[in-house]
Amino acid sequence: MASRQLQQQITVDGQQVLVVRSTRRTRTISADQVAGTLRLRVPVRLSQREIEDHARAFQKKLSRRAARRPRSDEELLARASALSARYLDGVPQPEAVSWSTQQHQRWGSTTSTTGTIRLSSRLREMPVWVQDSVLVHELAHLIEPGHGPSFKALVAKYPRTGEADAFLAGVSWADHHAD
Ligand SMILES: [Zn+2]
Repeated sequence: MASRQLQQQITVDGQQVLVVRSTRRTRTISADQVAGTLRLRVPVRLSQREIEDHARAFQKKLSRRAARRPRSDEELLARASALSARYLDGVPQPEAVSWSTQQHQRWGSTTSTTGTIRLSSRLREMPVWVQDSVLVHELAHLIEPGHGPSFKALVAKYPRTGEADAFLAGVSWADHHAD
């Protein structure tokens, strides 16, 4: 018997899903993306209800994956500008923010003459609120070069500064006690 494919376009929670029913596939359900649209390959006998349940599960998985994707340099700059506006009255005006693989000792650095911020690429895998905290730290350096009381008052405006510092201290500690 020749295998046949039946294609169907459905909408699940407002999102387009291309459903390919194959007579050849008996049990497996697989998913991929075609031009941003979820494509599900399903056994021919699966009910509409089951298809929608699977589509929802795959959509969830894909959006979690997208959330884990590291921020691009453009996204970092947009984020830094937003953090500046929210916590530092928009005073620091970063010109460029980028990931750097050259920084092993520091989580970030700032060149105040050019408004350039670099973040250690090691932060990429860390939670975004930790990245945000390092961004706020570097943004504050565009106002205050040292780490004195006025600097501390600036970074304290970001609510998770203490938590992020503890997180990063834990990472550094683990680095130095690797074996
Ligand atoms: Zn600093």
